[in-house]
Amino acid sequence: MCRFAYLRVFLRVYLCSADLFILHRRKQFGLCVKLLTLFKCYKPYPKHKTITLKIDLHSHTTSSDGALTPIELVQRAQQMQVDVLAITDHDTVAGIQVARDYAQSENIAIHIVAGVELSTSWHGFDIHIVGLGLDIQDTEFQQRLTQQLQERDSRAKRICEKLTKCGYPGIYDLALSYADGAQISRNHIAKALVERGAVDKAQQAFSKFLGKNKKAHAAPRWISIEEAIKWIHDAGGRAVLAHPSHYDMTTKWLRRLVAEFSNLGGDAMEITHPNMAADTKRLLQEMMTDNKLMASAGSDFHFPSRFTELGRRLELPETVVPVYHDWTIMNQAPLLNRG
Ligand SMILES: [Zn+2]
Ligand SMILES: [Zn+2]
Repeated sequence: MCRFAYLRVFLRVYLCSADLFILHRRKQFGLCVKLLTLFKCYKPYPKHKTITLKIDLHSHTTSSDGALTPIELVQRAQQMQVDVLAITDHDTVAGIQVARDYAQSENIAIHIVAGVELSTSWHGFDIHIVGLGLDIQDTEFQQRLTQQLQERDSRAKRICEKLTKCGYPGIYDLALSYADGAQISRNHIAKALVERGAVDKAQQAFSKFLGKNKKAHAAPRWISIEEAIKWIHDAGGRAVLAHPSHYDMTTKWLRRLVAEFSNLGGDAMEITHPNMAADTKRLLQEMMTDNKLMASAGSDFHFPSRFTELGRRLELPETVVPVYHDWTIMNQAPLLNRG
């Protein structure tokens, strides 16, 4: 009988109770693991080569207020080695098929997730809900998006009527030309105001005319968060609370928002963003866990800049459940070409 038999029995019993703990705290128990291995009581788990996919679940194209066309966005995603990209234009899915067709025709190993970003109203705040994994052929969903786009256009007209009273007529038509066939947004109106010389920079258009309580502000009449979640679910998607740290609200209100979003059936929330402070990340992750939501992350890419880039610094912590945890695309071979 091996002279280490008693020691092995002891170590096996110890191992049964401590196995998981050891695996998670291997650094602290490195010596213990070495001992167990030495006495052949413990076979460490093989170290798999982990392949990290670059995933970005929030981006915009010229179909809404992004600067790149769907094709240019795919080209940029390819340059940035993004494997999974969700196109989430405001209230439209018009760019998705174009992007998919292009990726397929050029044999680009990227998966385009069908997404959308719906505007909602909640206690006077504009809250954005991203939908991921949608059936973009769903006719009811398309009709609902048309309704949302009509409200977007109607709001733009209300804003431009106020701008006319401020001495700047014809802004609607000018903004429409900036939109170039896509939906009109306040960014287009801001550009038109710059061209008319009303302001020097687009950002000033918001602080002087378009922002809340400013001369040409028109309160939007968006759908409720509950409706947005229902629309997304009805179209087979998952509802994600977008950029929670970007709303101008106190932590108390943010907690209330996340709790209500979860109670209404929301699935996930974005918990990280490039340039987000570590404290904010911790706070959002805590809110996500408390409300049993899954985690999502996206750059909210609108145009190339030094602040935002497709797929950059969007890694989710290992301890969270990602919104894509059960998506079959995560196991598809073509995506793993990058290695
Ligand atoms: Zn947004
Ligand atoms: Zn966005």
